[in-house]
Amino acid sequence: MQVEALKILVVEDSKVTVKVLNNYLAAMQVNAPLVAENGTQALEIYERERPDVVLLDIKLPDIDGFEVARKIRMMEGEHEWAAIIFLTAMNSDEDLAHGIAAGGDDYLVKPVSEIVFHAKVRAMQRLIEMQRKLVDVTQKLDGANAELLRLSTTDALTGIANRRSLDHFLEREWRRCLRMKKPLSLVMLDIDYFKLFNDKYGHQAGDDCLKKVADQIARAAPRATDLAARYGGEEFTLVLGETDQDGAMWIAERVRQMVAELKVPHYATGSKFVSISCGVVSVLPEENVSLEMLTKSADAALYQAKRSGRDRVVAGTYGKF
Ligand code: GH3
Ligand code: MG
Ligand code: MG
Ligand code: MG
Repeated sequence: MQVEALKILVVEDSKVTVKVLNNYLAAMQVNAPLVAENGTQALEIYERERPDVVLLDIKLPDIDGFEVARKIRMMEGEHEWAAIIFLTAMNSDEDLAHGIAAGGDDYLVKPVSEIVFHAKVRAMQRLIEMQRKLVDVTQKLDGANAELLRLSTTDALTGIANRRSLDHFLEREWRRCLRMKKPLSLVMLDIDYFKLFNDKYGHQAGDDCLKKVADQIARAAPRATDLAARYGGEEFTLVLGETDQDGAMWIAERVRQMVAELKVPHYATGSKFVSISCGVVSVLPEENVSLEMLTKSADAALYQAKRSGRDRVVAGTYGKF
């Protein structure tokens, strides 16, 4: 950033001082500064223009410079920072300390020489550049962290939640339903004869099929209290918070139909299209109800669905497997 590009706001009620500062800045090739004659105007201009540097007089016709500095600091956004330099005739140590405490970055006593003024503006310019780099790095870091979080919680192939976020979500939803005294349902879903699908149509076709099935499962669980996750391999899980057995059976049946409607050919199934089997179990969470038992019970219901012919939804019972 060139010094010429600095956007400067001069807050000064003395026309003579404004003129002197204008000349100093012109000698540095800085663009003509914005000028405010009182504190209220200064805050209006700050709000609109977001200058890089504020040269701030203390004795002003309305609110004093200390107050202006404090207000500017309050108006600044998270990644914003303006260099505030007090420029005043008040020359006591207490005034200087007061100015820095109010949010000032430097304190110059009038009359200030051109050499000192130029040096101070350049010093502030350096700080502004450092601050911008810091903001840039921070934003990149925030982006990288968000991406890392996304990668660590989603399944790379299907883009839906992975096992890790499933465990996390299930734990949280279980505790929430416990507090709210609401039922919680778990659906285990598994693609039928998927090994044969892979063997016949190839691994790539298998991956494509997994993605399509995952999309349908995710579409069936749109509420904030729902989560569709890839449990592993060709097995998926639906967590349905605040949903009883009837509701969960209805949703599982709908997913089964949605997968059937994909009409992905599969020679080995009864329908000749890819199908899924589901096991559904609901509980009213209580302290002695365990998530492990809930998962096992849903697994047992899924096993029943497989044994009784596949392409179906079976209701299980908590604790029965
Ligand atoms: P069932 O109807 O009893 O569920 O039979 P199945 O063949 O679906 O079950 P099995 O557990 O024997 O086989 C699961 C297969 O899923 C084995 C593996 O080839 C396939 N599979 C698991 N993960 C992936 C994956 O990420 N991509 C592909 N293409 N296939 C996968
Ligand atoms: Mg004044
Ligand atoms: Mg299977
Ligand atoms: Mg399986």
